Amino acid sequence: MNWISDWALPKISGLFKRDVPENLWHKCPACEKMIFRRDLEASLHVCPHCSHHMRISAVRRLECTLDPGFSRIELPKAPADPLRFRDQRRYTDRLKEAQVKSAMDDAVAVAHGTIEGQRAVVAAFEFAFMGGSMGPGVGEAIVTAAKLAVLQDAPLIIFTASGGARMQEGAVSLMQMPRTVIATRLVKEAGLPFIVVMCDPTTGGVTASFAMLGDIHIAEPGAMIGFAGARVIEQTVREKLPEGFQRAEYLLEHGILDMVVNRRDMRATLARVIGLLRVPLIESAAAALPPPDMAVETPAEDETAPAKA
Ligand SMILES: [Zn+2]
Repeated sequence: MNWISDWALPKISGLFKRDVPENLWHKCPACEKMIFRRDLEASLHVCPHCSHHMRISAVRRLECTLDPGFSRIELPKAPADPLRFRDQRRYTDRLKEAQVKSAMDDAVAVAHGTIEGQRAVVAAFEFAFMGGSMGPGVGEAIVTAAKLAVLQDAPLIIFTASGGARMQEGAVSLMQMPRTVIATRLVKEAGLPFIVVMCDPTTGGVTASFAMLGDIHIAEPGAMIGFAGARVIEQTVREKLPEGFQRAEYLLEHGILDMVVNRRDMRATLARVIGLLRVPLIESAAAALPPPDMAVETPAEDETAPAKA
């Protein structure tokens, strides 16, 4: 044995292992180019080469949407595992694992704060939490966010990323569809804007309930948005589906969406939309009031009354 293989080589490789963390580079799933992790963070997980929008966590979403200093809301606890469901594993075990992995109680995070100085309540789905599926916990989060928006006289913005209803909670999950619809109606009845930002993917029970009922529908580029999967539809209608079917750009062309917005422009776009929807309301209310000189008309008349007599 010589000293190079026994002593020098392990020392050298040890040196390199310490200096180069494993996840310094990230491979874009669309163009397969390597991106420096720090650049990826700075570009909000949008590929600088091909503009592919990668999925981001709910917490990161809140951070890049709201101004610094926003407050996250503690959400009411929902009953866990009402059906005592079990497939290969117990549902409670899956739930615990997802909670540990994402550091969230369920698949939605809610916060209130400002977007470029304008009040807003934001709810964001965490796709990494059991596919962003909608069970009672998610229903509770949407109801809480809607009530908070009404209470604070602020628009409600929901970033969706969901596979649909959570099958482990059966009918209880499906009940969240009418529940979330009613919650978002409260926002509309209060005359407040309800904006939905559809992220990749927005499907199933979420699409079939509140997500398609916004005043403004925005989506991220390339997001998959639909109810059933393309293969299921193809088998049912026995037709070849068009290119780009169920993608944000296709839905924009067909009138389902109002805008497809790059993630890096999302904050400014939301601020602009809120400004457009809220400021004219204040101006029109001011226009409905009598002008200041008309308001003093009555006492002026009273003063002239004795003169006439
Ligand atoms: Zn790329």
